[in-house]
Amino acid sequence: MKNKIELFDSVKRDKVEFIPIDNEVKIYVCGPTVYDNAHLGHARSSISFDLLRRVLLANGYKVTFARNYTDIDDKIINKMAQTGETLSEITNKYIKSYESDMRALNILDPDIKPKATETINEIAQMVNELLIKNYAYRTSSGDVYFDTSRDSEYLSLSHRNQKNEERESRLTKNEEEKRNSSDFVLWKASQNGDLVSFDSSIGSGRPGWHIECSAMINKHLAHQDKAYSIDIHCGGADLLFPHHENEASQSRCATGIELAKYWLHNGFVKINNEKMSKSLGNSFFIKDILQKYSGEVIRFYLLSTHYRSDFNFSEDDLIVSKRRLDKLYRLKKRVKISSDTDIIFRDKLLSSLNDDLNISQTLAELDKFISEANDKLDKKIKDSNISNSIIFINDLLGIGGSDEVEYFKFGLSSDERIDIENLIANRIKAKQIKNFKLADEIRTELNSMNIAIMDSINGTEWERIE
Ligand SMILES: [Zn+2]
Repeated sequence: MKNKIELFDSVKRDKVEFIPIDNEVKIYVCGPTVYDNAHLGHARSSISFDLLRRVLLANGYKVTFARNYTDIDDKIINKMAQTGETLSEITNKYIKSYESDMRALNILDPDIKPKATETINEIAQMVNELLIKNYAYRTSSGDVYFDTSRDSEYLSLSHRNQKNEERESRLTKNEEEKRNSSDFVLWKASQNGDLVSFDSSIGSGRPGWHIECSAMINKHLAHQDKAYSIDIHCGGADLLFPHHENEASQSRCATGIELAKYWLHNGFVKINNEKMSKSLGNSFFIKDILQKYSGEVIRFYLLSTHYRSDFNFSEDDLIVSKRRLDKLYRLKKRVKISSDTDIIFRDKLLSSLNDDLNISQTLAELDKFISEANDKLDKKIKDSNISNSIIFINDLLGIGGSDEVEYFKFGLSSDERIDIENLIANRIKAKQIKNFKLADEIRTELNSMNIAIMDSINGTEWERIE
């Protein structure tokens, strides 16, 4: 008997009970378009749905998790023209960089990582299916468009109003033959001078963005005999329209099956209360923040706001959040790992997350656990559950798994560490010969280097402070 889990479904616009289609939960997350380094928005989305995956696993579900790489896109082609690099040179470089960022953030590696370039046959098949069923049409240049007027369910996902769509959209020259302004391209036929073109059963050309995800889901993940192809489709709130609306519509029309039973969207990231954008110059790359803070600290900070709320990034808040995580590591320094798991604590942490990933309640339980554990240790009450609870926290939240001594030394080079160790050794010698003035001077010097020292029965320990 599984615990009840509730999730906020973007289509129903309400919290609904999660009931999987089958005994294996299939999740698809729209991954990055690999033409640049990953930014905080990517980190937020990955962490949100990594938490979802960990919660389902902790509840005893088998989960198959797919996250794609959009490795065919006009943004990549523009970059090819700018840099003279090939498509694969660009995409391989940024896939590598993305995966290194994800590892730093302690994101569980997806079970399936499909690429658009490896799904061309399936994309062409799906476009052909839509042409045959008259849901798609060709223009004189050979491009294939999806006819949104043929799908009576179009806009049922995003709840947008067709009239607004018509008013908002402007046609480019290539789009003048579109039947409806909301129609979108499924396949762009090759033109002279195209940098990227693939041969396929529907001619040479390249796919539009939306069809890539539908075809990848159908190839790697989809049930073929159920009411829905997959259980949960996830992505950032900015993808709800048009990307997810179009994915859902073309899949529905091509396969006759609804794409996903539940749709989850994470909120936007703002930087110091401004919308993050490249033009504002406040588009933070994950790898830049990683120079200064560990991936675990960034993860914990991004995790601490509920996934559906907008997230306002500020370095001051990050430091406050780090102090909260420090407490877990201070506790970890006090306990040794042993056996037994505290079932009650485990249930408390999990039950709040089972309520649409209610992270604030979970973190309140975590704070309470840390303070009670410290009380017990102060009073020398033996509790072998503490260390195992920390292991469970790491499984569930992806935090607390690092070495507790290393955690407090993050970002220091080996040369800096040697200098610190030498100063500490000199201070010990000074104390031995009762030169307390020199010992104090060395402590002051270490403090000015942002190093705190603690004398204990095990000798002198040190930590980096912000
Ligand atoms: Zn997608």
